[in-house]
Amino acid sequence: MSSLFNQYRVEELLLATGTLQKRLWQEAGELRDAVFGKEVFIRGVIEVSNFCRQNCDYCGMRRDNQKLDRYRMNSDEIFDHLQSILPASVRDINFQTGEDVVAVRETILPLVRRIKKESRLGISLCLGTLESKDYDQLREAGGEYYIIKIESGNEAHFKAIHAPGTLAKRIEAIHYLATTGWQVSSGFIAGLPDQTKEHFLETLNLLHRLPLRGTSVSPFIPGENTPYEGAGVMSGVEALNSVAILRLQNPDRIIPAVSAFNIVHEEGYRLALEAGANLGTINLTPERQREDYQLYTKHRVIMNQERVLKAIEKAGLTPSEKSMIRFLKKI
Ligand code: SF4
Repeated sequence: MSSLFNQYRVEELLLATGTLQKRLWQEAGELRDAVFGKEVFIRGVIEVSNFCRQNCDYCGMRRDNQKLDRYRMNSDEIFDHLQSILPASVRDINFQTGEDVVAVRETILPLVRRIKKESRLGISLCLGTLESKDYDQLREAGGEYYIIKIESGNEAHFKAIHAPGTLAKRIEAIHYLATTGWQVSSGFIAGLPDQTKEHFLETLNLLHRLPLRGTSVSPFIPGENTPYEGAGVMSGVEALNSVAILRLQNPDRIIPAVSAFNIVHEEGYRLALEAGANLGTINLTPERQREDYQLYTKHRVIMNQERVLKAIEKAGLTPSEKSMIRFLKKI
């Protein structure tokens, strides 16, 4: 563990500016380089369905949001779309949905089978809390990496923000996935309403203890048509320092730069890479669906290949030629 943790409390590192922030990011970057080299993995994401049975207070896709046009793509249309637009830099693909079991069974399962059979892409999935048999079928079909976020590691806070199900169930799912052959990633939202310093620390500690290969932090952005519309946003400094803290605590995990960093800071995406992130995601959702995959706002910052590659270059890093999932299998 970094010596910074002996000299400073995590709360101090979170607010670090100037020389201390420089040191924090530098140590985080060096740790990332020591495990992964100066390379950033690149994956594509397709947001397959915005139907969701959950009602998270921080998300525009919550079931009570009547103002959202809902869509669910089918597997053939996604496969054809991918074939026509897959950027040359992409080595892994992530399929993401609201918590929509119809999409899981009717779209994702056949799609994963086909991608596994007809391509060399690593397959990651972010589909919410499902039944064990769904995870098993998806794994059997070719899914390898499952993203299931805890959002807050404090049980009372988790309940207060109406995060999906219960924290205990999410943790149980992480353990189940990790013991059934999945590589698992989890993460949290920094700056959620009513998130105290204690919640923040509890969340970091929990993520560190869980059997994860990836960990993410997203800055809270108040969602349109959600109970948190109009809530305050944390500073870009804190959000970006969170990335470095995660890296110092978890040197050998995949940590993504998420597009929401560009909302809290104009150069946020590149800075997240400088602070220790090692995964860039190119949004491949077809344009007509993209606007309705509204985690917080319809006015999203869309990271295409050009923007991702530019941020990687400006951060002094290079795009990896390898699939993140295959790389993880060897370490
Ligand atoms: S965060 Fe996920 S589970 Fe919660 S409402 Fe949004 S899409 Fe659904």
